[in-house]
Amino acid sequence: MKRKFLFYILIFDSFFLAGIFWYLGFNWTWILFPFLVLLIFIVIVSSKIQFNFFIPAIHSGDKNSQKIALTFDDGPHPIYTPKVLELLKKHRAKASFFLIGENLKKHPYLVERILDEGHSIGNHSFTHSKTIDFKGKARWLKEIEETDLEIQKITGKKPKFFRPPYGVTTPHLADALEKTGHLTIGWNQRTYDTILRNPKKILSKLRKNLKAGDIVLLHDSHENIIPILEHLLPEVERKNLSFVTINELINEEPYF
Ligand SMILES: [Zn+2]
Repeated sequence: MKRKFLFYILIFDSFFLAGIFWYLGFNWTWILFPFLVLLIFIVIVSSKIQFNFFIPAIHSGDKNSQKIALTFDDGPHPIYTPKVLELLKKHRAKASFFLIGENLKKHPYLVERILDEGHSIGNHSFTHSKTIDFKGKARWLKEIEETDLEIQKITGKKPKFFRPPYGVTTPHLADALEKTGHLTIGWNQRTYDTILRNPKKILSKLRKNLKAGDIVLLHDSHENIIPILEHLLPEVERKNLSFVTINELINEEPYF
C-alpha cells in the first residue's frame, strides 16, 4: 500500500513540475521532461520483480540449507513437461511448476502427474497474453481466479503461490493480489532459456552462479530444457546440493 502511495505521489509531482515549467514559460521539451522521467521510472520498477516496488515477492531461500528450487513456468506442455518429469524422477529432484490456466485446461492429466510425483504447483495467470500487463484489477482477478478454479477442479487444491507473467508487476496486479491473498514468487537466477538458443551458454551461466538457497527460473515449454536438465541435475547432485519444491525452500504452505 505504501509503495502504491509513493507511486501516486510521483505522478502528482510530475504534473506539478510540468505545471511549474508551463507557468514559467519553458518550452514543450521541458514541460514533457517530468513525464518522460516518470515513464522511464515506471518501466524500470515494473519490469524487474526483484525491486519489490509494487508487490513484495520472494526471490530466494535459506543460503545455508544446501537446497535449490527449480521453477518451471508456462506449462504444462504435452511434449516437454513429461520429459522434464522423467528427468526429475531419474535424479530424485523435486521442482515447482507455475502453470498457465489455458494450458492446464488442455492437459489436466499432466497437472495430476506433477502433483503425484511430489512437485508443487503455482498460478501463472490464465492467458499469459502479451498485453496482460495493461489489464485493470478486474481482468487480473479473472486471470488469477480462473486459473485457481481450473487447478482446484483437477486437484482439489487452491494454489497459494503466484508468479507474474514476464516478471512484470503493476499497481493493478498488486490490487488483485491484495484481494486474492496469493504469495508472489520471483527468482534470483534467470536463465533466459526461452531466448538463448544455446543450452551450453545457459549451463555455463548456471555453473558459475548457482548456489544454495537459489530460486531458478526455467520453462518447460521448449526443447532446450531437456539438454539443460540432463547436464544440470547430475552436476548439482555431485555438489551435494538438492533440488526441492519452492514450499520446502521457503518453508511455506503451497496451497490455501
Ligand atoms: Zn511465463
